[in-house]
Amino acid sequence: MTTLPEIAARLQGYDPESLDVATAQRFLSALAAAHLPAPEGSEVLPLGQALDRVLADDLVSPINVPAHDNSAMDGYAFAGGALQPGRGLRLRVAGRAHAGATWQGALASGECLRIMTGAVMPPDLDTVVPQELVTLDGDEHIAIAPDLLRAGANRRLCGEDLQQGAVALARGERLAPAALGLLASLGLAEVRVFRRLRVAYFSTGDEILSPGEAPRTAAVYDSNRYTICALLRRLGVDVIEGAPVGDDPALLEAALRRAASEADAVITSGGVSTGDADHLRPLLQRLGEVAFWRIAMRPGRPLAVGRLDAGARPAILFGLPGNPVAAMVAFIALVRPALAQMMGWRARPQPLLQAHSCETLRKRPGRTEYQRGIVSTGPDGRLQVRTTGNQGSGVLSSMLQANGLIVLHHDQGTVQAGEAVEVLMFDAAI
Ligand code: AMP
Ligand code: MG
Repeated sequence: MTTLPEIAARLQGYDPESLDVATAQRFLSALAAAHLPAPEGSEVLPLGQALDRVLADDLVSPINVPAHDNSAMDGYAFAGGALQPGRGLRLRVAGRAHAGATWQGALASGECLRIMTGAVMPPDLDTVVPQELVTLDGDEHIAIAPDLLRAGANRRLCGEDLQQGAVALARGERLAPAALGLLASLGLAEVRVFRRLRVAYFSTGDEILSPGEAPRTAAVYDSNRYTICALLRRLGVDVIEGAPVGDDPALLEAALRRAASEADAVITSGGVSTGDADHLRPLLQRLGEVAFWRIAMRPGRPLAVGRLDAGARPAILFGLPGNPVAAMVAFIALVRPALAQMMGWRARPQPLLQAHSCETLRKRPGRTEYQRGIVSTGPDGRLQVRTTGNQGSGVLSSMLQANGLIVLHHDQGTVQAGEAVEVLMFDAAI
């Protein structure tokens, strides 16, 4: 077990009192790497149930795909050596080859084969002329105009998609629709995937009411449970949802112990500031280890990260801030990439989009800011972005209007209208 100080010691510029987003992300990546699912934590699933699961082994292709040279078009197959520059070709149609059957005859010189898309190309034939490019000449012949195509045209080569014996999909690949199709094209009916990561979630706060409960003065309904658990489900983890817990150290400790005993990671919201009712940090210190609790970002500045040793195996704790936008933004920017890594998923880094800001964005260097943005195509055809207006960290409706987060980086200052900014688009992130 790698301790948190050991991980921190390997990072340049690590200062838990004032952590920038990039260093926090590197820390979390190192922490997640220390918690990858054990190799025995995998299961075999039918392809139809494996969507969004993570491949546990390198998958070596048992066959060539396609298995034979075949025609890419409906047309006529012939030996391309007969093509000569500046000269047409007249060929006798000597047979027909359909997809799914192998044509058994032999062609003489000056002959061709009527062939359908996907039909196996006989060994001596290497070129297909599409049917719409030939002229029929009587019942038995076709004519091909001069310089219409090159030898080898419209032939799909054996193994051009996947080569037998090569790694078709690597361990750590998340099984998206195309990956499932690719596995099916290899004839595989089942696939070995990592077991699902188990993530426990509960909201904290004396003021928290669950939807359906009668309204009460000074209380707020628990929206974080629904946003964060939905984000977790989109990620494809097993969500262990707990009821909200009040700002009471004993109740919080019991809830943390139970969650840590059931889950690989525990996520809470609320109670991570430094107010009188914010008990999470001292509890984490007692039940495990605190990595950091404050990040130079907005929204989402209070974010507790640490290790809970309350279960049989340690669990990582992410204590999200209570404000609804801050909780979502901290999840998207920091928690989600760490969880993806713990799932065994070798996720590619999220590309940021460049768009021109429609307005001046006030910002001071020294923290990363995530503003809710609406990206659209401007009158000049370029991408532009405007903010949703009120950027308060409690204004959840801004997350609905937005289609992405404008990322104003740590060292960046005020952005003038018309300048380019980077945007993390939601569709890819969530
Ligand atoms: P805290 O981080 O506990 O100081 O909470 C900051 C703000 O977020 C307060 O106004 C809370 O009422 C609000 N808040 C905390 N938890 C939730 C929640 N689960 N759902 C909606 N709002 C919350
Ligand atoms: Mg609170």
